[in-house]
Amino acid sequence: MRKWIVAGNWKMHNTIAESIALAKAIKEGASDFKGGAIVLAPPFTTLFNVGEVIKGSNVFLAAQNMFYEDKGAFTGEISPGMLKDTGCSYAIIGHSERRKYFHEQDHDVNLKVRKALIAGLTPIMCVGETDEERVKGITQDVVGRQVKQGLSGVEEIDKVVIAYEPVWAIGTGKVATSAQAQEVHAFIRGILKDIYGNKADDVRILYGGSVTKDNVAELIAMEDIDGALVGGASLKADGFLGIIKEICVKK
Ligand code: PEP
Repeated sequence: MRKWIVAGNWKMHNTIAESIALAKAIKEGASDFKGGAIVLAPPFTTLFNVGEVIKGSNVFLAAQNMFYEDKGAFTGEISPGMLKDTGCSYAIIGHSERRKYFHEQDHDVNLKVRKALIAGLTPIMCVGETDEERVKGITQDVVGRQVKQGLSGVEEIDKVVIAYEPVWAIGTGKVATSAQAQEVHAFIRGILKDIYGNKADDVRILYGGSVTKDNVAELIAMEDIDGALVGGASLKADGFLGIIKEICVKK
């Protein structure tokens, strides 16, 4: 039985005061949602503050990115140990915006996933095809490569969360249909089965891409969709809590 996860990626939004207010509203509104995990990924500058707000609750803290070294001359980077120090238990890795704007490759994603596991952080590894790749009919080639290379050398698959986020659906309002999403989720689980056997049945695969409280019910009804990674709709407590409520009821 896989437990649902709903993660909110706040991206480069919210000051300290705004983050504290949003985290408080989510924590209060989510106190009755049981059986899964609620995860908030604020910007680095407010991780500690949000961590203080949600301490001891059913809401967990995530980083939006991390580096794969412990310390050293890596200006501007943040280590897994530093993230744990702020209260993080999850790290989003390989988000499409990291891949697009900061040129992260599958190899970097793999180093980060492996390092997160060593450090005791749960990686949420993001994969997904662009619009152009879908139109070309190479969605499975792209996603298959990202999954296999991202997980190369990873043994503790039970500690990894995967997020399928079609790039064309992120921040566009163009959500994948439940059938489109399920098809790719089942494909990913099939790859995991080939590599890890029955352990694949326990891996949580989240859908991300323009999820809102109004479209999540159909997505979450799909067999291989175990939760959501939410961008825009996680920036308002009402919208985010509405998504969690739907998932909590259905899964
Ligand atoms: C995301 O950034 O991971 C995301 C899914 O964004 P949005 O929900 O805004 O499409």
